[in-house]
Amino acid sequence: MKKIIIGNFKMNPLSFKGAEDLLKAFDIKTKNTVILCPPYIYLKKGENYILGAQNCFYENEGAYTGEISPKMLKDLGCKYVIIGHSERRNILNETDLEINKKIKVCLLNNLKPVLCIGEKLGEDRKEVLKKQLKEDLKGVKDKNIIIAYEPVWAIGTGKTPTSDDILDSFNFIKKIIPESKVLYGGSVNSKNIQEIIQITDGVLVGGASVNKNEFLKMIK
Ligand code: PEP
Repeated sequence: MKKIIIGNFKMNPLSFKGAEDLLKAFDIKTKNTVILCPPYIYLKKGENYILGAQNCFYENEGAYTGEISPKMLKDLGCKYVIIGHSERRNILNETDLEINKKIKVCLLNNLKPVLCIGEKLGEDRKEVLKKQLKEDLKGVKDKNIIIAYEPVWAIGTGKTPTSDDILDSFNFIKKIIPESKVLYGGSVNSKNIQEIIQITDGVLVGGASVNKNEFLKMIK
C-alpha cells in the first residue's frame, strides 16, 4: 500500500542554493506519496513530490506583519500544511485555540492540515492525545486530514517508542478520527522507517529529511 512520507525541513537549510539542491534531489519517482515542507521562502513545486508548508496564519488576509496567509500557500501550489508542531506549541507558545483556527482556515482554502499531536515525557499519552484531538478539531466537520502522532520526547532525540506503543497510538487515534490518515513522527531514519511504516499510514521526518542521502534511502 502507498505510504505517506512527509519531510519537515524545519529551519533548514540556511541557503537558497542548498534548498534548491535538496528539492531537486528528492524530486524522483517513488512508490510512496512524498510531501516536502521546506521553509516558506523555499516553497517550490516539483513534478514528483507534493508541496507542503510548516505553518500558516489563521486569517486569510489583513494587517498581520510577518504572517503568511493560507491563500498565499495555495497560490504557490501547496496542498498540505503542518499545524500544531510541538516546536510551535512549546517554543512559540501556540495554543490549541490557534491551532483549531488554523485547521479551519486551511480546510476553507482546500489545504489539507497535518495536525501534530503527542505527549511530553511523563505525561499520560492517551489523555494528551484525546485532549489535543478534542480541542484542535473542535467544530471541524471535514476530518479527512492527516494526523501525526509525535511524542515530544522522541523529536530530534534519537529515541522512539516501541512498535507496540506506536501501534497502540495509531489505533487510538483511528478510533477517535476514523477518516484520518495517521502517521508517526519522532527520530525516524533509514534504519527504523520500514518497521514503523508497516504499522502506520506513513511517517513525518524532521532532521533526517535534510540529509540528502539518508532521506533518499527513505523515500525510495
Ligand atoms: C519533526 O520535526 O516533526 C520530527 C519528527 O523531527 P525528527 O524526525 O528530527 O525527530
